[in-house]
Amino acid sequence: MYYNNNTLIYLDKKFVKASEATTDLYSQTMHYGYGVFEGIRAYATKNGTRVFKIKEHYERLKRSCELVNIPLDYSVQTLVDATNMLLEKNNLSDAYVRPLVFCDPNMALTRPKEVSIMICAWEWGAYLGDKHLRLNVSSYCRPHPRSIKIEAKVCGHYVNSILATNEAKDNGYDEALLLDSDGYLAEGPGANLFFEKDGVLFTPQLGNILPGITRATVLELAEKLGVEVQQGLYKPEVLALADSAFYCGTAAEVIGIASVDDTVFPKAWTDTLGKKLQDAYSEFVRQSEKTLRTTTAL
Ligand code: PMP
Repeated sequence: MYYNNNTLIYLDKKFVKASEATTDLYSQTMHYGYGVFEGIRAYATKNGTRVFKIKEHYERLKRSCELVNIPLDYSVQTLVDATNMLLEKNNLSDAYVRPLVFCDPNMALTRPKEVSIMICAWEWGAYLGDKHLRLNVSSYCRPHPRSIKIEAKVCGHYVNSILATNEAKDNGYDEALLLDSDGYLAEGPGANLFFEKDGVLFTPQLGNILPGITRATVLELAEKLGVEVQQGLYKPEVLALADSAFYCGTAAEVIGIASVDDTVFPKAWTDTLGKKLQDAYSEFVRQSEKTLRTTTAL
């Protein structure tokens, strides 16, 4: 359950009980998926709660809104402060934070005049668990970047993610892997892909995928660890010959991939670059802001 009778959410500059908050059923978001959201994680650190890359997430939220003509009149700092207060009020430290921008009642296919924002949070373990994933290459491709704004985190885009996930599970796999409309590797339903071959990491380039904040963090950590990373367009046949692979995302964190369509990656996870980055990531997210400010690290 995501909330109980005491849980508070942030709704349009007020804190209200989740169980009492209401919305208008004629919202464009409800009917057309025309809304924008984020997924953020907070971690308990030695010096208090750290909401990981909170500015980057709210910058992406604002950019997503701009890209799809949703007017969100909030500064990043206001949203950062609201999030910190929300966590404090709900006594949450290790938590997942979900901001959602949703539109006014309007049944026309026009841009909204006014929008609302809600932020909620709950305790959530690793989204994809910690078992290495058996992936299924999806029969659904990611939406074409000329059909939608692929770099925006728009509610309606997630029907594609849900269909791919359901299909993979119905086929007996843990998770889907989606290609782009030209047949190149794209991403998971809610995570970005990396794979390793001969000591080098590879990841699909930006353009046909969501620019993940965890992906950017993995790139930073790889640079710090002296790991070479190449970004490009890769066919599934290239992935099938890889030594190892992993998914990364805010909810999923860094999680190993065991196989793709029953082709098992040969390298033992403990020897992979993915494991190195998984360890570096879990250490990094729990470094306190104070420690970060006093070291030269990242
Ligand atoms: N791709 C998709 C389609 C996603 O939904 C997510 C989760 N937001 C990601 C990648 C990873 O993004 P991030 O690291 O910013 O959570």
